[in-house]
Amino acid sequence: MEIPSNWWWREQVADPAACAIFDMDGVLSDATGRQHLLTWPRRDWDAFFAAAGSDTVFGDTATMLDLLAASLQIVLVTARPISIRSDTTDWLARHEITYDLLVMRPDMDRRASSAYKKTAVDELRSFGFDPRIAFEDDVRNVEMFRSRGVPCVYIHSGYYD
Ligand SMILES: [Mg+2]
Repeated sequence: MEIPSNWWWREQVADPAACAIFDMDGVLSDATGRQHLLTWPRRDWDAFFAAAGSDTVFGDTATMLDLLAASLQIVLVTARPISIRSDTTDWLARHEITYDLLVMRPDMDRRASSAYKKTAVDELRSFGFDPRIAFEDDVRNVEMFRSRGVPCVYIHSGYYD
C-alpha cells in the first residue's frame, strides 16, 4: 500500500501502532492572534495560515502529548494545508513537540475539516495505526472521531463559538 502523499514522519518511518491523535490549531498551537483574519465576510485563509509560525504553544496540551508519547505514537492530524508544511514542522521543532507522523490537508481538498479528518482516520487504520484517543477543539471533529470509535477529548479554544 502506498503511503499517502500528505503524510510526513518526523524522523523515520515507524511501524504503525497504537497512537494518540492531536489537532494543531486551538489544541497545540494558540491561533488566537490570527483568528480575526477569518472574520466574516473577509475570510483570508491564506493570511491566516501564513501567520501560523508565530503562534505560541498551549503548554497544558503539550504536556499531555509528552505524557502520552511514552506509551503511544503521536500523530498530528491538522486541517492546515500542505503548502505550509515547512512553517509547521519548523514551529513543531522550535517548540520541541514530539510526534511520529504529521498528516496535513492536501491542497486540493476543499471538504469540511471533519470529512478530511474522517478520511485521515480511515487511512491511518488501513496502514495499521490504532487510534486510541484524539484531542480536538472543533465539536464537529469531536463527533466525527467518536462516530469512528475513537474517544475524543474536547479542548475549548473558543474559535467556534
Ligand atoms: Mg483545531
